[in-house]
Amino acid sequence: IFITIEGPDGAGKTSVINELYPRLQMLAKKGIIKTREPGGSKIAEKIRQIILDPRHGEMDERTEALLYAAARRQHLVEVILPALNAGKIVICDRFVDSSLAYQGAGRRIGMAEIAQLNEFATEGTQPDFTLYLDVDSDTGLRRIQQNRTHQIDRLDSEGLEFHQRVRHAYLKLLEENPSRIHRIDARTGLQEVVDESFKVIVASYPD
Ligand code: C5P
Ligand code: MG
Repeated sequence: IFITIEGPDGAGKTSVINELYPRLQMLAKKGIIKTREPGGSKIAEKIRQIILDPRHGEMDERTEALLYAAARRQHLVEVILPALNAGKIVICDRFVDSSLAYQGAGRRIGMAEIAQLNEFATEGTQPDFTLYLDVDSDTGLRRIQQNRTHQIDRLDSEGLEFHQRVRHAYLKLLEENPSRIHRIDARTGLQEVVDESFKVIVASYPD
């Protein structure tokens, strides 16, 4: 089972995944892996360093989209697909939806173009199930500004409108994929978000 966690900056994906992981471990008969992108494999981590290097400053947005897609491809082939083929649960922090939202809408390349690029990169592999942690842009921005331990975030400096475009895109994806994407209200406390997320996953996979 391929599960992805999505959401705008400040939604708390990383904390939620870390709390969710041990609980899901108990359900996973054939094992579970927790991974994240960009990164998750040696080559993909190198690409991540290029993307998140604060010094690059002026990276063209299509270059950025291609690098995300390249990292995703490598991570998929090297890590995700082998785990899925072994019957494991894969829980992944971000996937194609992030590029649709950030590169497609945030950077204004267009969601259709990004969908096409990622179709090539993934050969159509889709998550079985996506948790979308929803937070309004004001709350999200406030959280990342308060939480300075958040890794090098070039996008901190992107401003409210960028973050609003990202969130709007996520809401559109939610509307278009009602059976795959499940919205969780992430404005509440961490424990509530984790409980709700766990409930939603278990309800979808009773087994
Ligand atoms: O997953 P995390 O929130 O740690 O992402 C690191 C940074 O990369 C964030 O600031 C996020 O906004 C950005 N990002 C992006 N495009 C993606 C994925 C992440 O701009 N496709
Ligand atoms: Mg994070």
